[in-house]
Amino acid sequence: MSTARAVVNPATEEVIATVSQLDAQDTDEAVARSAAVLPAWRAVSPGDRARLLRRFAEAVDDANEELARLEVANSGHTISNARWEAGNVRDVLAYYAGAPERLFGRQIPVSGGVDFTFREPIGIVGIVVPWNFPMPIASWGFGPALAAGNTVVLKPADLTPLTAIRIGELALEAGIPEHVFQVLPGRGSVVGWRFVTNPAIGKICFTGSTDVGQKIMAGCAEQVKRVTLELGGKSANIIFADSDLEAAAASAPYAVFDNAGQDCCARSRILVQAGAYERFMELFESAVKSVRVIDPSDEQSEMGPLISAEQRAAVSCFVPDDAPVAFRGSAPEGAGFWFPPTVLAPVPLQSPAVREEIFGPVVAVLRFEDEADAIRMANDTPYGLSGSIWTRDLGRAFRVARAVETGTISVNSNSSVRYWTPFGGFKRSGIGRELGPDALEAFTELKNVFVATGS
Ligand code: NAP
Ligand code: MG
Repeated sequence: MSTARAVVNPATEEVIATVSQLDAQDTDEAVARSAAVLPAWRAVSPGDRARLLRRFAEAVDDANEELARLEVANSGHTISNARWEAGNVRDVLAYYAGAPERLFGRQIPVSGGVDFTFREPIGIVGIVVPWNFPMPIASWGFGPALAAGNTVVLKPADLTPLTAIRIGELALEAGIPEHVFQVLPGRGSVVGWRFVTNPAIGKICFTGSTDVGQKIMAGCAEQVKRVTLELGGKSANIIFADSDLEAAAASAPYAVFDNAGQDCCARSRILVQAGAYERFMELFESAVKSVRVIDPSDEQSEMGPLISAEQRAAVSCFVPDDAPVAFRGSAPEGAGFWFPPTVLAPVPLQSPAVREEIFGPVVAVLRFEDEADAIRMANDTPYGLSGSIWTRDLGRAFRVARAVETGTISVNSNSSVRYWTPFGGFKRSGIGRELGPDALEAFTELKNVFVATGS
């Protein structure tokens, strides 16, 4: 029996929609429909599949403002971020629309015949999405999965299903055949877990917490099911004394407080070289205090609320009454799950704010002495997802970029995600990569065919 879930606006705490949550049987039925349409979808010619994905991209583009408004209401994202997120879905679809016609194999020299490789679709791909970036993260899975000829079942986060449901409708309107891409709202432990246990699903593409990711990986092992995991992070923003400190400080708040810190790439540790520490903190304080934490639907808003009361309680644990708060930004009073940008310093190295993912607008600032010290501190975490280096020394930039154990890192920039380039984690931040030119490989099986030509 499916149940109903009230969807809440985190900036106002008002109920904005009711969505039915599917159960395990509903999930199995959807998977059976997915299996039924798989042969026809695989057989769509590369040119036609490319055209359908381009139409899907156009439909998402036409709905940009509608999707963005829906995300502001459901997730509390700032309107400017939400427009970017809907635009990212369009871009990912358009980028992978180029793939069906370029899914090349190889011809390999062998004796006694001719040898080719093919990239075959895996079959049905199950995508499980977290609540922090409902639109982009969904598309990083379904874009390349559909392009490679798979059918897709997608479970949005229980808290944030609305944009995914709308994107599912847009796919149909754009001409993607029925049941090729199905959005299945429901609880992770029910719908998401059924993706893992249902043997008809060939691959799980999971983004979320490291704890749930470990369970999913173990569950997939039972069936040797393909799995990619994009998990947590504890990224470092490393600021050397020779850097453009004004630029580093002006940018640093957004590297951790964007999306209210609910970002797996959040640089929730800022490492500052000793000689520049006092000057950096002065500049950083004024930058943090000027972050506009207001109604996310306001065009000027730079940070909205947290997603839920539970998330606010979890983030608050990192700032107990005796926490070393250096300074804070502001946040609205009253309804909504607001939490002000908070800077902790000096922080003992063993404290949870230094060691654990926070997933909220809280950052720990730490001092380092030299390059070796910075690298050692940056790597002193089980995670390895993202990070930044600020320096004017090109040699140092490359040395440190190579030495930090992380899937992506930027120099003199805090950007993490570009749809043209690979994204994913070292260590406990995940397995596999999304986006970029190689993502298709994770949604295909490599087949080798040998044809004997006789002697
Ligand atoms: P989560 O609790 O792990 O949930 C992620 C998704 O998994 C949700 O859809 C959830 O469903 C589902 N789920 C929960 N238990 C499940 C189970 N037993 N089997 C199958 N699916 C299950 O993570 P979250 O709290 O939504 O998101 C925060 C975490 O995601 C953070 O740790 C963050 O770092 C990580 N994250 C990583 C990336 C990345 O790319 N590396 C990106 C974004 C977020 P429900 O909605 O019912 O809980
Ligand atoms: Mg969770």
